[in-house]
Amino acid sequence: TQYMYRFGGGVADGGDAAKGNKNLLGGKGANLAEMASIGLPVPPGFTLSTELCARYYEEGESYPPSVNDEVAAGIAHIEKVTGKNFGDANKVGNGPLLVSVRSGARVSMPGMMDTVLNLGLNDETVEALAATSGDARFAWDSYRRFIQMYCDVVLGLDHGLFEEALEIAKEDSGYFNDTDMQVDDWKKLVSIFKKIVEEEWGKPFPQDVNEQLWGAITAVFGSWECERARVYRRLNDISASWGTAVNVQAMVFGNMGDTSATGVAFTRDPSSGEHAYYGEYLINAQGEDVVAGIRTPQYLTKVAREAAGAKPLSMEEAMPEIYAELAKVFDLLEAHYRDMQDIEFTVERGKLWMLQTRSGKRTAKAALRIAIDMVGEKLITEDEAILRIDPMALDQLLHPTLDPKAKRIVLTKGLPASPGAASGYIAFDADSAERRKEMGESIILVRTETSPEDIHGMHAAKGILTARGGMTSHAAVVARGMGRPCVSGAGALLIDAKAGTLRIGDKIYHDGDMITIDGTTGEVMEGEVPTIQPELVGDFGILMEWADKGRRMAVRTNAETPHDAQTARDFGAQGIGLCRTEHMFFEASRITAVRQMILANDEAGRRAALDKLLPEQRSDFTEIFRVMTGLPVTIRLLDPPLHEFLPHAENEFADVASAAGVGIDVLKQRANELHEFNPMLGHRGCRLGVTFPEIYEMQARAIFEAALDVAAEKGAAPIPEVMIPLVGTKGELTMMKALVNQIAEKVFEERGNRIEYLVGTMIELPRAALMADEIAEEGAFFSFGTNDLTQTTLGVSRDDAARFLTHYVDKGIYARDPFVSLDIEGVGQLIEIAVNKGRATRPDIKLGICGEHGGDPASIAFCEQVGLDYVSASPYRVPIARLAAAQAAL
Ligand code: ADP
Ligand code: MG
Ligand code: MG
Repeated sequence: TQYMYRFGGGVADGGDAAKGNKNLLGGKGANLAEMASIGLPVPPGFTLSTELCARYYEEGESYPPSVNDEVAAGIAHIEKVTGKNFGDANKVGNGPLLVSVRSGARVSMPGMMDTVLNLGLNDETVEALAATSGDARFAWDSYRRFIQMYCDVVLGLDHGLFEEALEIAKEDSGYFNDTDMQVDDWKKLVSIFKKIVEEEWGKPFPQDVNEQLWGAITAVFGSWECERARVYRRLNDISASWGTAVNVQAMVFGNMGDTSATGVAFTRDPSSGEHAYYGEYLINAQGEDVVAGIRTPQYLTKVAREAAGAKPLSMEEAMPEIYAELAKVFDLLEAHYRDMQDIEFTVERGKLWMLQTRSGKRTAKAALRIAIDMVGEKLITEDEAILRIDPMALDQLLHPTLDPKAKRIVLTKGLPASPGAASGYIAFDADSAERRKEMGESIILVRTETSPEDIHGMHAAKGILTARGGMTSHAAVVARGMGRPCVSGAGALLIDAKAGTLRIGDKIYHDGDMITIDGTTGEVMEGEVPTIQPELVGDFGILMEWADKGRRMAVRTNAETPHDAQTARDFGAQGIGLCRTEHMFFEASRITAVRQMILANDEAGRRAALDKLLPEQRSDFTEIFRVMTGLPVTIRLLDPPLHEFLPHAENEFADVASAAGVGIDVLKQRANELHEFNPMLGHRGCRLGVTFPEIYEMQARAIFEAALDVAAEKGAAPIPEVMIPLVGTKGELTMMKALVNQIAEKVFEERGNRIEYLVGTMIELPRAALMADEIAEEGAFFSFGTNDLTQTTLGVSRDDAARFLTHYVDKGIYARDPFVSLDIEGVGQLIEIAVNKGRATRPDIKLGICGEHGGDPASIAFCEQVGLDYVSASPYRVPIARLAAAQAAL
């Protein structure tokens, strides 16, 4: 097997269309090869494939013997193209070859994996570099950077020791910036660094450049299994089996004086999506300086600098020619990849080099704007635009923003690093953020800056606030990716994490204090600021229109209040797929009557209580029907085990006793009788209707009376779909359907008017799915109740699953939580059987899904595949479902 693939200098072993080779070369390697093959200036290098990573772990963390020669051939390739030699100590000629060793997985994992720069320096080559470059300061700065990174990434030494030594060196000389350090200062620091290495590692810093190289390669492969990479994989559904590639590439130097620079850029604004170049750069620096927020970067474009009122010149102004060249490359890359690109570049003594390109992470708002603009620019089609948007990311747009009319005390302003507003209690470290979130607290993570170790805390937080770092700092990039609001670089914050204090001006806040951040404006505010609903117009509306054209399945909502029903209508729901009726019974004004009904000893007692509930239930339906005239509304008759409604406290028993006119002891006795060992498999669902038909009678009457009322009032009726829950056999449905039809006829006769309606069932027991042909003889529709169907098929109690299911997911027994994303292989098979058998009996049977899965894109794709007529999702998931249904249909 070939494990090494060269790029640069007219060679691209990965093939011209390296695009398709991301799995093998990793994203970074594939894109470097592709940039090289379309003629962009890429420093030459080679990629060790992800297959080698897998082999490395299979072989117990060692390499197949052939790899030695391959790496040597790769180095030879770089030497040939650059005319420099690895480990060359000659003080005349082209100077020694230095390389970077960079990780790169299939999908970008920003900041997750480690990179080593300036590799190939030792006590001799540093002198050669100084002599051949004519810049000793640069050579020694590079050497100290290399030692620092190598010790951190490869040797695993405490990087604090090196940073501290640097700080002390600067203080001793009265310097403020790293750039103030002179050649002798760096030399002195290098010898201090080497002493630290000897003390901490027990051996001198490796001088053999090949030992350095193999050390770094192994560290990159090793970092695939480090804790923070694992956390990132888990949060982003990345498989551990993918592995990472390693890229070894000739160094180019942004730190060779004032004609050198380094920067990162997006071809469009990643926050707003605006079609304008967007980025940051630093003169006389190496790439790490920008990303790590060590120096505050400067703007790329003049417009951005002026908008921010910043003084230091933008790259457009300071280096106009190279900027123009760079802008051309941006356009070329966008046209080539047909997507917004996130780019790293370096300028070495006036020459531009491209170091990375990839599809840029963006906010949901930017994703929409970019997709729609690109359709306008004829770069992509409408269908492609639909496929470009991650449905789950729409969530970011559906949630509230700060009420512009609300009073706010603005404490300070930072950079608007990731949009959206959030309020929460201050947490100063990731662990406590995570812990407190689990206790139900809303958290704002407040840090001087963030690093990959903070990922879990950022995930747990509602928002992130940092004192340092630019728009492309770690905090900003990760927050945008996660969809968390973030304000970065708020310089006025004085954070003392140890003491647990945040000082802003003369105010001091502690971890019990609430603050609000607005990642759209950069404002930091005291306390909680009220929010308002966003308006779903503009780009959002356009994309939804395209999605609606593209989808086949209808999208309904799960709602049981008029408010939720209205929200869902506003989000585009085409009816209700599940209206649960039990929640309606819990209201304080009704619960006593409900309890009276349950605890009654006989039918007469139950009917007396049900008479009190009828008008209440009717008004529930009337209000919902008003919102849904002309649309289907699936109403599930009472489903939960009765014991859920039982009184507990003494006063609750007393209330029921006086309402029913019986003694408390009698009631308690009856409550005991109702106790069940396994209520979820007990007296619930249509079993209630079979034993106490008067309950379903009352509900059916309320439905039909309400529908006729609304028809009279509005001139249009909803289409009730009366759903019988937990049916396992045809006989149950036959009986319940007869009952509903009988009530319907009675009501229609009383009112002298009729409406259209259907009676059908929920498929939530494996037996029902298997016997669907028979059940379809009675049921006009099936709605897959996949929450219960998952529970009954897997034999896993969904209320108790949390304790063990996360372990199952962690260990890969289930790829995803089957209550969140449908178990397509198992539960999906039952659905397919039921669909086929149901249609065989009744070709026009209506089929839908109403479980939690109706709002999950992967599950929606399955629903499209088996040909369901609609999916039903909670109101906030309706737009997500509309988009996911369109994607599934394309
Ligand atoms: P990450 O994936 O964390 O961005 P990279 O491998 O892209 O890691 O590298 C980190 C930094 O080092 C980037 O700023 C990049 O531009 C810089 N860098 C990497 N390789 C080289 C090189 N050959 N020459 C100069 N700078 C480099
Ligand atoms: Mg990078
Ligand atoms: Mg159910």
